[in-house]
Amino acid sequence: MKIPKSGLSKEEIGARLSAVREGDVPWRSGKVWAYVYDAGRDVESVTKSAFMDFLTENGLDPTAFPSLLKLENEVVGAVASHLNAPETAAGTFTSGGTESILLAVKAARDRALSARPDLGRPHMVLPSTAHAAFQKAAHYLGLDVTIVPVDASYRADVAAMDEAITDRTVLLVGSAVSYAHGVLDPIEALGKLASDRGLLLHVDACIGGFVLPYFRRLGADLPPFDFSVPGVTSMSCDLHKYGFAPKGASVVLYRDAELRSHQFYACATWTGYTIVNAAVQSGKSGGPLAAAWAALKFIGDDGYMALSTKMYEATRKVCEGIEAHPDLHLLAAPDANLVAIASDTVDVFHVVDEMSRRGWTVQAQLTYGNSPANIHLSVNPRAVECVEELLADLDASVAAARGLPSGHVRSLVESLNAAAGDPPSRDAYQPLFDALGVDGGGLPDRMAPINEALDALPPSIREQLLIEFMGTLFTADRG
Ligand SMILES: *Cc1c(COP(=O)(O)O)cnc(C)c1O
Repeated sequence: MKIPKSGLSKEEIGARLSAVREGDVPWRSGKVWAYVYDAGRDVESVTKSAFMDFLTENGLDPTAFPSLLKLENEVVGAVASHLNAPETAAGTFTSGGTESILLAVKAARDRALSARPDLGRPHMVLPSTAHAAFQKAAHYLGLDVTIVPVDASYRADVAAMDEAITDRTVLLVGSAVSYAHGVLDPIEALGKLASDRGLLLHVDACIGGFVLPYFRRLGADLPPFDFSVPGVTSMSCDLHKYGFAPKGASVVLYRDAELRSHQFYACATWTGYTIVNAAVQSGKSGGPLAAAWAALKFIGDDGYMALSTKMYEATRKVCEGIEAHPDLHLLAAPDANLVAIASDTVDVFHVVDEMSRRGWTVQAQLTYGNSPANIHLSVNPRAVECVEELLADLDASVAAARGLPSGHVRSLVESLNAAAGDPPSRDAYQPLFDALGVDGGGLPDRMAPINEALDALPPSIREQLLIEFMGTLFTADRG
């Protein structure tokens, strides 16, 4: 666009903004099982009003806005109690799971480098189910990573992680729970390994940290996964997932303040104002923090229990429905409200497209390691109202998927893979991308051929393709 010569009216702005959202997923419908964590209109109105109240306040400097310091200390304290952190624990409010993880990795790196300046490139050991944010952190912060295959239940293989430890290892990672399969890693065994080897252990509870204590109270048989396990030195827990705060809200916690101090950044070698940042952002809106505080206070323990009961029930019904289906199966029995569904008989990417045609938003997950292509469902509280409809539409989608062509792209990609050499060259794949029409910008009607191609490509080519695709989406529109 061009900056208009004279500004538009408030009404005109509102009308244009509502028109622009036409193509968005209808997240209030109950049929969006990813991206949005919806606790209903009441919570939405309270958190949005708190967000607006603090939108303009700046979290840059806690001495200028002591309100934000107080709110942050209260939110961090609430999450610390929820995860059984000791009195010595310290934490920080962040913009999301990725930032929490980035900071935990930075703290581990800088603590190790301060003790051993000649360490070289620090190294961390991840189960293949650990969130991609750890690899992103390694990429940003200059660490090496070893990705260790998980066992048949998609849980971390502790013995294999032990073998992957080197003299440069600074951090081990476990998930409570993993996003892809919703399962809890053996945190006690990982804690023992970390203690025995003198290493730090981060437990990523970004998605499970809020619900797991409630699921346990509802009868789920869950081993300890939080700071109650000796050896767990840091944790991440998102408020903008099942804390039901709006986006921009997570907490990173450390067993003690000394470890957290390696996360902080100060700079006194420039001419401007004093810089000391707890997290990645410097100037930042107080909105997400006030909204997260409001969610905790408004929903309360009883409210979270009621929401968790709905998610627990809905997950159980989804799992029963999938297990009874002749063409679908669960990849793992989930410990939380995240479900991965695979099939030996139909192409799951077609099933995802067919579900979209029926108004549902569910995520395709590609093959990696021992995890085959599958359909991911994040089971929200609203799901309890539409499980039967979901299962009926899944059944119809499976039937429709059976009639759709599959495998052409995959065999084309496999012959390309065989010819491409190591490392494969991007150019070799150009005809495939042309055929798929993925370089043209915008999204095609059906994603299955693209998902099928991505699924068959080596990960390094998948990554290149995704980055190029991103470049075609984000263009400066000067019209
Ligand atoms: C969502 C998620 C993250 C990343 O969080 P963002 O808020 O999307 O940055 C990390 N770990 C797990 C297990 C998650 O589910």
